[in-house]
Amino acid sequence: MSQFYGTMQGSKSAKTCQGHKTQGLDATINGWGKGVRVRATYNEATEREEFAIFETTGSNRSGSDKLIQVIKSGSAPDNCPHCMKGITGDPDACPDCEQKL
Ligand SMILES: [Zn+2]
Repeated sequence: MSQFYGTMQGSKSAKTCQGHKTQGLDATINGWGKGVRVRATYNEATEREEFAIFETTGSNRSGSDKLIQVIKSGSAPDNCPHCMKGITGDPDACPDCEQKL
């Protein structure tokens, strides 16, 4: 079973693509001047799936990809299970005791 599963639908029938934990999955949709790229990876240390979303310069390739946002599976708890301090945002580790969340 693959960690990641991608689908693309254009003017022809849909295509699928699988990515294992170790390789991840990388997808790009480009126009001429702009586009988006999503890189899916599995973070062994945090045991979370991560999706990095980039803005591209399209098929013109006039510059490098710009990171827009990283989305992660799961979410940090409201309180650290190790030191019980409150957690704000969605960090991978507790800002106080630095234990993995
Ligand atoms: Zn803590």
